[in-house]
Amino acid sequence: MSKLAINGGTPIRETLLSPCWPGGRLYDEREAQAVYDVCMAKSPNRYSTQQKPGRVKTFEKGLAEFVGVNHALGVTSGTAAILVALKAAGIGPGDKVIVPACTFLASAGAVVCAGAVPVFCDVDDTLNLDPKKIGDVCDKYTKAIITVPLLGNPCQMDEIMAEAKKHNLIVIEDVAQSMGASLHGKKMGAWGDIAAFSMQMNKIITTGDGGAVVTNHEKMYERAVRYHDQGMFREKEGFLTNDATDVFIGQNYRMSELTGAVACVQLERIDGIISEMRRIKKILKEELSSIDGLTFKRVIDDEGDIGSALVMFLPTKEQTQFFIKAMMAENIVFDCQYGGRPVYMIPQIFHQKTVDASGFPFNQFDEKIVYTEDMCPVALDMMPRNAFTFIEPSMTDKDIEDIIKGVKKVCAEIL
Ligand SMILES: *Cc1c(COP(=O)(O)O)cnc(C)c1O
Repeated sequence: MSKLAINGGTPIRETLLSPCWPGGRLYDEREAQAVYDVCMAKSPNRYSTQQKPGRVKTFEKGLAEFVGVNHALGVTSGTAAILVALKAAGIGPGDKVIVPACTFLASAGAVVCAGAVPVFCDVDDTLNLDPKKIGDVCDKYTKAIITVPLLGNPCQMDEIMAEAKKHNLIVIEDVAQSMGASLHGKKMGAWGDIAAFSMQMNKIITTGDGGAVVTNHEKMYERAVRYHDQGMFREKEGFLTNDATDVFIGQNYRMSELTGAVACVQLERIDGIISEMRRIKKILKEELSSIDGLTFKRVIDDEGDIGSALVMFLPTKEQTQFFIKAMMAENIVFDCQYGGRPVYMIPQIFHQKTVDASGFPFNQFDEKIVYTEDMCPVALDMMPRNAFTFIEPSMTDKDIEDIIKGVKKVCAEIL
């Protein structure tokens, strides 16, 4: 075996392979033309656009169709989408919301920004929510659950929906990093009551920043539109609404037409992006499956996995850290998702640091809210042992070959 680059050997690649922008790397004249057209029409705002139909509106129609739901609403980010979804669902002060132990900070942060308190539910060996643990974290304040399909892998939505029904929970799907993932042919985002998507730079399709809320519920859609636009509902034809009684004070999370224009083009690319990522992931898994001691993250529905990442586990945290460093030295980027920590171990969540000193929303219940390191033992054990690389449709055959060679080279030394 050749000497590892980390020990002074020759790296597998001369230049860094750093995949992490599946849709972003595909930008070309089409995205540029779409933005140009909005500029030339002098129509940057969705509610005063000269372009008919508007770009945001067209994107919303396309996304609703893609996910298989009645309504979609473009917003400014994935975080905004979660907050708008929470408010549309009527979640706020007095409520607790279940959040998976393994997710990005924003899933829990949006709950706090909504005035509610996140409580954390453990995961299983998919790193997604373990439906069997949901009942354990419910109490009389628990109103909703946020599900998060991580890195393109579907959640066990059939069982989660059954548990949610049993405990009377509203289901909010945070599909930020898995647009297009599905279970039994039904897309993530179409299972729950309402769902959030992100189009930040690292997500499947991207507008730099941007997001969307989708739902089948007429009333939740109306509340989402109102919350994201200062309480207004400007396109309410066909909706039985009463501005005297249904109105409330909202925010501004409106998507601009410039963003909408790029979103339309990116959405046209999504099926191609997913099929290419799936093809590449299949090759990587086949080539690497024979390595003893290396396990792949379990996927519950291979057809519903969008292939946006290859996630593996090594036997120990130390081996994982060495593996990642050694791969970096070979010029192939691997990372430990979320620094190997469950989301509740992020300092601002763990220590309940809010923007002001009042202590709200963590101080609103009779009992004190306390987060402990070992509250989700599966997450605590598995997170430090994960090593993953993103997969991009723009990867070349040589890139794929280099990943295989690199993983084999490093594993031969350490496993
Ligand atoms: C990226 C992400 C978000 C936040 O999306 P932004 O568009 O960056 O605000 C929320 N939840 C999850 C699971 C994410 O991966």
